[in-house]
Amino acid sequence: MASCSGGREFSLASNADRNILLVTIDTLRADALGAYGGHASTPNLDALASHGARFDFAHAHAVVTLVSHASILTGRYPYEHGIRDNTGYRLRPEQPTAATLLKARGFSTAAFVGGFPLDRRFGLTPGFDVYDDRMTRAGPTGDVDERERPADVVVKSALDWINAQTGKWFTWVHVYDPHEPYQPPGEFATRFASDPYLGEVSWTDAALGPLFDRLRGLNRPTLVVVTGDHGESLGEHGERTHSLFAYEATLRVPLIVAELGKGMKDTKEAKDTKERVVETPVRHVDLLPTLLASAAAPAAEGLPGASLIDIINAGSGPDRPSYFEAMSAAVTRGWAPLRGVLVGRDKYIDLPIVELYDLAADPKEASNVVRARADRARVMVETLKQFNVAPPSRAGTETADTIERLRSLGYIGGGSATVREHYTDADDPKQLVEIDRMLTQGNDALRAGRADEAADVYKAIIAKRPDTEDAYRKLALIYWRQQRPRLAVETLEAALRAGITQSEVRIKLGQYLAESGQAEKAIELLSATAGNDPDAIMGLGNAYMLAGRNADAIRTFTRLLQIEPGNGLAWENLGTTQLQAKDVKGAETSLRRAIQIDPSLSGAYTALGVVLAQTGRRDEAIAAWKRALELDPSDENAAFNLKRVGPGTGR
Ligand SMILES: [Zn+2]
Repeated sequence: MASCSGGREFSLASNADRNILLVTIDTLRADALGAYGGHASTPNLDALASHGARFDFAHAHAVVTLVSHASILTGRYPYEHGIRDNTGYRLRPEQPTAATLLKARGFSTAAFVGGFPLDRRFGLTPGFDVYDDRMTRAGPTGDVDERERPADVVVKSALDWINAQTGKWFTWVHVYDPHEPYQPPGEFATRFASDPYLGEVSWTDAALGPLFDRLRGLNRPTLVVVTGDHGESLGEHGERTHSLFAYEATLRVPLIVAELGKGMKDTKEAKDTKERVVETPVRHVDLLPTLLASAAAPAAEGLPGASLIDIINAGSGPDRPSYFEAMSAAVTRGWAPLRGVLVGRDKYIDLPIVELYDLAADPKEASNVVRARADRARVMVETLKQFNVAPPSRAGTETADTIERLRSLGYIGGGSATVREHYTDADDPKQLVEIDRMLTQGNDALRAGRADEAADVYKAIIAKRPDTEDAYRKLALIYWRQQRPRLAVETLEAALRAGITQSEVRIKLGQYLAESGQAEKAIELLSATAGNDPDAIMGLGNAYMLAGRNADAIRTFTRLLQIEPGNGLAWENLGTTQLQAKDVKGAETSLRRAIQIDPSLSGAYTALGVVLAQTGRRDEAIAAWKRALELDPSDENAAFNLKRVGPGTGR
């Protein structure tokens, strides 16, 4: 594995005829990888680095998945692409991305993602011929926002697609496994029993191995870029996971650039290529310009980043400042927004209690030198001002109109519904890390099945900070699961009264109302506030369905499909409503469309079975219900129908 002495260091040239593979590994601390001196077992990534370029001081611009990936794919800072948190935002469809720009250069394009934060609903799909976001594993609490797919399954899907390509391609592979909960499979659980996070990183490396091996055998060379979207705090600064702070544990990421394929494998040249270690600061916004330059494509206009090819070939380059932020707690909980800037090895964090660190002398950010180095702090403040530091609007981009409607429905009391202009020390996340810790504690209890304990924690959080949106939603979920719908509804109504206006809260409230016999109230709430939010429109359609208002439901799902024609679930719901309305032919078309888009939709198979049975195709109906039960063994309708059609056909 060690590179031969005497070889030349890795270099990179433009080449219009190469494949491009972007691998993003979720929640990956740079210092976990072997190549970075870490203690995970990562032979595949280390081998890539040992014949490529390894950037030792690379940074993300955000510390949550969707925001960071939006920066990677668009080459823009969060305040430019507009996504500030994992929920409540969507990428503007006209925003150019690596996929749209490379597709325009003749690349076939495909994305294979492993975690719900990158679900197609968040708008990263434009430009991708294939956007494979099929999640195969329910989240540990059964919450839709925790669904994921293991790395080996993601890699297999990507390999199937790559193997079918003849022309050049751009593929983005996202693996989610190092994200909590840390549950590495098989031998990795045993080997890393004392540090399961490192076990997940090691397992992820093993899962990626076949992908790199395949590229080594291809005739066309493949540029491989591997990075993390953000790191993981693992207890540093009182934070266990990520999203709250932007210390190096979560902001610094690995970045490896290498080339695999014909002319690269087993040739003297490839073996002799030595690792190029780059200490110049680089940023995620530099990745898109690098991808374009490597493909000999013209630079995209107005991007803040710069191609890394010159830095790779020279081994170093100019120091460019980097903007970063952590806005999740600001936009969902009303805490102070965190933004900052890196200049050289200095890091400035703008919060009510400001922070300045000298990362060269103090890489763990233990000593805040903002007072000792007041002059430097002033320079950093000026540098930060070059970036757009206006506070973001709250998640869900609530218009004054929506807020007025909520008020007229009696949902909003006196609480504020926008990010404030002024914050005190009490709003600084450093002062609120206890609330964050309690949220983690509640989530842990919920996952472990201790629902009452979790509920008590969420209630305590709401008593301390009544603007903590996630506490209401989780508490309501617990009540809902305990079949206490009145309490679930009351909890979310209390959230709205406390000034929380996130669309997720309203959508959930609409769902709970509709499914607990108050469909008309749900319709009133959602029809007034859905706007063009696909999730809210879906909720409204479901409420109409439950109210038996089939024509309104069909109209609503049709409107949703005008916004999102590829929404399989919307086709399923449309088909199910058409079936209710006795439009069997229309139902069959819609349900087949749903299955074509998403073959994992068990409900579509169940409903299609009914259509088939009603039109005399008994055997096909049985096959459809059996398929539904394979996909979802808890599908009671499919089981009931199978039992009804006769003995020997059920399970
Ligand atoms: Zn992530």
